[in-house]
Amino acid sequence: MKPAPFAYERPADLATLLDRLAGAEGQVKLMAGGQSLGPMLNLRLVEPDLVLDITGIPELRRAAVEGDTLVLGACVTHADIEDGRVPDLTGGALARVAAAIAYRPVRNRGTIGGSLVHADPAADWVTSLIALGAEVELAAASGRRRLPLDAFVTGALDVALAPGEMLVAARIPALTPGTAWGYVKHCAKIGEFAHAIGAVRIEPETGRGRVVIGAIERAPLVVAEAGRLFGGRIGPDFAERFDPRAADGVLREAGMTDAVDRHVHVTILARAVAQAARPAPSTRPVSEAA
Ligand SMILES: Cc1cc2nc3c(=O)[nH]c(=O)nc-3n(C[C@H](O)[C@H](O)[C@H](O)COP(=O)(O)OP(=O)(O)OC[C@H]3O[C@@H](n4cnc5c(N)ncnc54)[C@H](O)[C@@H]3O)c2cc1C
Repeated sequence: MKPAPFAYERPADLATLLDRLAGAEGQVKLMAGGQSLGPMLNLRLVEPDLVLDITGIPELRRAAVEGDTLVLGACVTHADIEDGRVPDLTGGALARVAAAIAYRPVRNRGTIGGSLVHADPAADWVTSLIALGAEVELAAASGRRRLPLDAFVTGALDVALAPGEMLVAARIPALTPGTAWGYVKHCAKIGEFAHAIGAVRIEPETGRGRVVIGAIERAPLVVAEAGRLFGGRIGPDFAERFDPRAADGVLREAGMTDAVDRHVHVTILARAVAQAARPAPSTRPVSEAA
């Protein structure tokens, strides 16, 4: 199948893009890497009147460090991150997540902004950046605002974008020394979308932790009071204290009724916890095939 006819424009600056987004008649779709939008157009799941290609806008390709925050423009590609063409405040954690997304041609074109807005529950940035405590920066002709990523992703393929609004950047806090990080995805074949994702960011010294379970057919699950997965408190011995039954209970409470599904998710989460407790982060694999 081929797309229904649509008009195509490629604005050269953000102000022009936001004006077109605010003023255009009919349905408008932004196109970044086109890796998800392309198939949706071909299958006629979307039939926009106008496609605005956002890849020619320099601001959206920019990456910068602002204090202890990494700001990645929406059109930074997975390959830019994998190859280290953008700064890194995570000790290589972002590059390892990027390298496990699909295969190289997809990573060459697919963007961090497109991935977050598409909000596929099995997508890697959605879960990993929620665990890292990222925010998104949104812009419209009328102004800008920021939202924590877990508030932005409201469900499977559903985000809190207002009409005329777009995502311009992801703001990712530094992984400070002493913070443990683990990210494991499970997929049938390396390079495929995940069937289960576990992401953990643990501060053993302060007792704080963020645990996220992804690829669950809805927005990633941020475990409230993460300490309950570790016998009530998070400390330097967090990996030994990880309680799979508590994790299973969290998934039950979230409505996951299939015991096999819960077992797979708990196993992957346990591997992410074990990975976080290990040194030598640069050698850690992210993707595990079945
Ligand atoms: C074969 C294949 C395998 C894949 N495997 C994985 C995988 O393992 N893990 C993974 O995470 N992803 C995977 N992907 C998805 C890939 O990572 C894409 O990057 C992602 O789906 C969308 O990014 P994009 O830049 O191509 O966005 P596009 O396809 O251009 O856009 C996607 C959607 O977001 C909107 N949009 C794009 N940018 C913005 C913006 N800045 N503001 C507002 N709206 C915007 C578009 O209008 C559209 O609705 C896979 C894709 C393919 C084709």
